[in-house]
Amino acid sequence: MDPVDLAIVGGGVIGALIAHEAVAAFPDARVAVLERGLIGQGASSRSAGVHFPRGATARVRSMSEHSHHVWGRLATELDLPIREVDATVVSTGDADALSTTYLRLGDETAPADPARGWSAPPGGRAWTLHGCHYADVQGVAGRVLASLRDQVTVLEGTEVTELSSDGAYHRLTLGQGGELLARRVVLAPGPWLAHPAWADLVAPLGLRVKKVVAAHLESAPAPDDPLTIFQDEDAFLLPLHGRGHFLFSYTCDRWDVAPDDVELALERSDLDDARAVLGRFAPDLAARCNSGRVFCDAYSPSREPVVAELRPGLVFAGAANGSGYRLAPAIAAETVAALDLTPTPNLSQPRQRQS
Ligand SMILES: Cc1cc2nc3c(=O)[nH]c(=O)nc-3n(C[C@H](O)[C@H](O)[C@H](O)COP(=O)(O)OP(=O)(O)OC[C@H]3O[C@@H](n4cnc5c(N)ncnc54)[C@H](O)[C@@H]3O)c2cc1C
Repeated sequence: MDPVDLAIVGGGVIGALIAHEAVAAFPDARVAVLERGLIGQGASSRSAGVHFPRGATARVRSMSEHSHHVWGRLATELDLPIREVDATVVSTGDADALSTTYLRLGDETAPADPARGWSAPPGGRAWTLHGCHYADVQGVAGRVLASLRDQVTVLEGTEVTELSSDGAYHRLTLGQGGELLARRVVLAPGPWLAHPAWADLVAPLGLRVKKVVAAHLESAPAPDDPLTIFQDEDAFLLPLHGRGHFLFSYTCDRWDVAPDDVELALERSDLDDARAVLGRFAPDLAARCNSGRVFCDAYSPSREPVVAELRPGLVFAGAANGSGYRLAPAIAAETVAALDLTPTPNLSQPRQRQS
């Protein structure tokens, strides 16, 4: 294969958004996405895909705001599998504290919803939250890259097994044989931080991989059922209308798992933990937690996403701490800003811009 200006390793939602951003900023650049499996089959395939405009730090709030606008635009432009949803935040905190974290906090509302089977614990209050949606994240990654097929080379079933650099080019060795030369490389490997091709490069970032679990509840959502966020517990109850059940996401505290080893089936303790958290708000719903989804995600020490140059022209992007879907557009924008993708005449063929 001819050399490229940019090789993106990892075809999850973050890799797909980086490809989109790169092509938008540098329409003449030659871009390739290399994905070991199929597009979106990593952490993105297990994602609940919830977007709520919030952030614990100024940078994440700004990333959340940026991503909110990009998802809104792309949902229409690319007909993405994204569904807007009403939302309620439940917390024992006050509105001032919450409005620092949540960018679109609405009016205070009833701290219970008997029809949907939950009520806030003593001292808990509830507010409406605007601007939320949820997505089929694997479908989003696939759709974004499908829209770029005439501009981006997408290589699936292609594992990058070695990375080296010899001056102007990075050399990517491919599992099926052959290699690819790239002027710039983005690593967007999701939780595959310890792949031998880049483990040593990524190690100084201090990233870790945590198991992520969400329970599925046997309860069919009504069309207008809202997303309910339990702020103090970092948990949420999401109506998955298209799948015909609710999902309950809660914090699983199992660290340093490996994505190729993580047991995809639930352990008994996973459902016990989910029921214990949900039981504080909704005992009847807790009893319906009978199945779920398990995978893992990459986390950073600062709990902010990481965009970091590991060596000249080689950037890591990810470690979004369980928020890689909702922050993907902002991660992509920061990544492309960190790359000089101005095509060089001897490498990139000038190509027709899309009108
Ligand atoms: C159960 C669960 C629920 C979640 N819910 C939410 C949510 O509601 N909202 C939210 O914002 N986020 C959520 N997340 C987090 C979010 O899904 C992830 O942060 C996001 O999908 C990460 O995207 P990514 O592109 O970085 O990684 P991935 O989707 O994992 O993509 C990385 C890709 O790199 C590929 N790869 C790895 N090594 C190589 C190699 N050597 N060569 C080539 N390719 C390679 C993998 O095959 C993989 O496809 C959830 C995660 C889980 C597990």
